[in-house]
Amino acid sequence: MHFIVPSEKRSIMKRIFLLTLTVLFFAACNNSEKKKTEEASMTAETEQPKKMEEPASEDFIDITPIEHATMVLQWDDTVLYVDPVGGAKAFEGQPSPNIILVTDIHGDHMNAETIQAVLTENTKLIAPQAVADKLPKALQERVQVMNNGESAIHSNIAIEAIPMYNLREEALKFHKKGRGNGYILEKDDKRVYISGDTEDIPEMRNLTNIDIAFVCMNLPYTMPVDKAAEAVLAFKPNVVYPYHFRGTEGLSDVSKFKDLVNKGDESITVTQLDWYPNQ
Ligand code: ZN
Repeated sequence: MHFIVPSEKRSIMKRIFLLTLTVLFFAACNNSEKKKTEEASMTAETEQPKKMEEPASEDFIDITPIEHATMVLQWDDTVLYVDPVGGAKAFEGQPSPNIILVTDIHGDHMNAETIQAVLTENTKLIAPQAVADKLPKALQERVQVMNNGESAIHSNIAIEAIPMYNLREEALKFHKKGRGNGYILEKDDKRVYISGDTEDIPEMRNLTNIDIAFVCMNLPYTMPVDKAAEAVLAFKPNVVYPYHFRGTEGLSDVSKFKDLVNKGDESITVTQLDWYPNQ
């Protein structure tokens, strides 16, 4: 028979106690690790841009991003193509355009073959003079030239051409003032702003009553996200869609843009769509 002497008993108790502590400690660690992974995957999920099989619906307009700066807008019965590039294939399944708006001469905004392919005999083609000058003759005959400061009405939508240009010394060569157009569309007191390729110019900062704004942010061609956020906080649209955010170094940090905007004014909705479905 073996009698446990009190000192031996104490040491066994001590060992059981330590073992229990160790088990509890590892269990706790494991649990908090699990929680961290869950949190990370939840964040990842909420930060994913919406996939755009269906257009994004605002209360008065449907928005289908095609790619980069190219989009289809449907406002009641009117279909607008903005900067159609990418060939007819990029617009498969889309209704034909009543209005085409071209902002500038660069290949990510102007493509004669695409315009030719999607244009119908009833389409109103609107572009600045510099774009018209580069189009083939057949399209030149169709284009209604609008330069900065000019306006027109088509399908009950008032269209105003406004400036878009660079401010940073090193970027002045990309877009000089007067060549390209940003556009403001207005109907039934609703106003949509399409920035074109620009920086945070006073003409953007001083906009008023904009319901929906499409704002570019890519480097080196347009502006950094903090400048885009500053400009948006100055003119306070109800909803802003960052678009045209692919630069030479990859995509701009659009979630940082959203954070900056909402830190300054949480009532502005920042909606991120999938503008680069082919990447
Ligand atoms: Zn561009």
